[in-house]
Amino acid sequence: AASAPPKSVVINAKEISIPTGLFINNEFVKALGGKTFEVENPATGKVLLSIEEGQAEDVDLAVKAARKAFDGGWADSDPAWRASLLHRLADLMEKNRDEMLAVEMVDSGKPLNQASTVDLPASIGTLRYYASWADKVYGRTAATVPGTFTYTVREPIGVCGQIIPWNFPLMMFVWKIAPALATGNTIVMKSAESTPLSALKMCELIREAGFPAGTVNLVSGFGPTVGAAIANHMDIDKVAFTGSTATGRVILKAAASSNLKKVTLELGGKSPNIVFPDADLQKAVDWSVLGIDFHAGQVCHAGTRIYVHEDIYDAFLAAFTKKMASIKVGSIFSSETDQGPQINRSQYDKILGYIDIGKKEGATLHLGGNPVSKDGGYFIEPTIFTDVTPEMKIVKEEIFGPVVVIAKFKSEDEVIVAANDTSYGLAAGVHTNDYQRALRITKKLRAGTTWVNMFNFLHWSMPFGGYKESGIGRELGGEALDNYTQVKSVFFNMGIPTP
Ligand code: ADP
Repeated sequence: AASAPPKSVVINAKEISIPTGLFINNEFVKALGGKTFEVENPATGKVLLSIEEGQAEDVDLAVKAARKAFDGGWADSDPAWRASLLHRLADLMEKNRDEMLAVEMVDSGKPLNQASTVDLPASIGTLRYYASWADKVYGRTAATVPGTFTYTVREPIGVCGQIIPWNFPLMMFVWKIAPALATGNTIVMKSAESTPLSALKMCELIREAGFPAGTVNLVSGFGPTVGAAIANHMDIDKVAFTGSTATGRVILKAAASSNLKKVTLELGGKSPNIVFPDADLQKAVDWSVLGIDFHAGQVCHAGTRIYVHEDIYDAFLAAFTKKMASIKVGSIFSSETDQGPQINRSQYDKILGYIDIGKKEGATLHLGGNPVSKDGGYFIEPTIFTDVTPEMKIVKEEIFGPVVVIAKFKSEDEVIVAANDTSYGLAAGVHTNDYQRALRITKKLRAGTTWVNMFNFLHWSMPFGGYKESGIGRELGGEALDNYTQVKSVFFNMGIPTP
């Protein structure tokens, strides 16, 4: 395929070169169909540049390259070498820190103080964590029948399709590639159409780090075309997806009706956050604000439903409202900014739509609820609804914006029922200084991640994923390695006769 040249874009008064091609076989190439699409800066609503737009035929090329790399040595390569490549990629991210940050910020609308303290360092940390795992993947020997030697080996799955969302473009890219590469898989990645830029920058670094051609391939483009081609492909062995529950169902069906590729899904959430009277009130407020407002609420595990015990309800609401009202919404480049824009016009409209629904359903709009007009970007005020009931849409459905509902509760039993009254099960939190209560409640919460006296805190060494309709499988931690390896049982005859 013809090569696609990078383009130079001015970000915060600095010129940065961004690849525009699909990344196949270690080359940035034009899409076969000759299409491109525009990438917008959500903080201004202005187009940054156009990049190549892949289709099913480009996915075919990427799969061929990935298959060739897998069969051509990557699957059986020295794990220590794979580790060194992952470390080298992390080194290059550190070396190109400012550029990576700037691109991630204009791509996703993340403010500086979040992108620089979370997205970039956590991505680098995750790469190094899985570099360390590469040579620590073990099989077992088993005692079976005398005269046989039986053991298991963990082998890579093969060509992995990976489809990522727009809320954490860089981190999702790394969460996906790091365990896959550490264990010897090859990759066909699809970035989100709203945020394809940091993935392109990463591919530049992947090539520079020395990964063999075809190990990682990236096909930028849209869900119904590129995403569907990956999910339906007959020569992709596994698909890992992060995104909405609705799309997760489509992918699971596509896998079932094509080649039964292995599927892991990390989907939506509507996470409860419970506050007891014996909690440290101000700390509970601070973590709860972080829980709902981090990245403008565009977080699948956001603490969107706050349940406060009646004894402290008024005091909590007053302190929580004060802190939410003080959030600085504005320029992503200012280190003062707490909250940037929503990702695009359609999400912005959807969130404002939910705010309207909340009012119509009879909830009290206690704070915010309005757009913030700034530089043409998609900003929305931090928003609180009170007087909510369990059947309201704003209590049940994922809004994916800076919108929280707060309800009052009387007893522990009642709040556990309310907290678990959701089809999701991604995360949940409780604030209390009674450790017995904390243990009791975390045991009863039906969620893959639970927090005590904190919220929205993740770490690469701890598995992350959903109960119920929030997903299948786990990312991060040693658990992710299980999702990127398969077990082979070997029976070795040491002298038993034919029965
Ligand atoms: P959101 O609503 O947050 O955008 P999606 O689930 O639609 O969540 O998007 C997450 C990722 O899934 C994106 O990369 C998107 O392009 C992709 N996607 C959307 N629809 C499909 C589909 N039908 N098949 C495969 N991938 C899809």
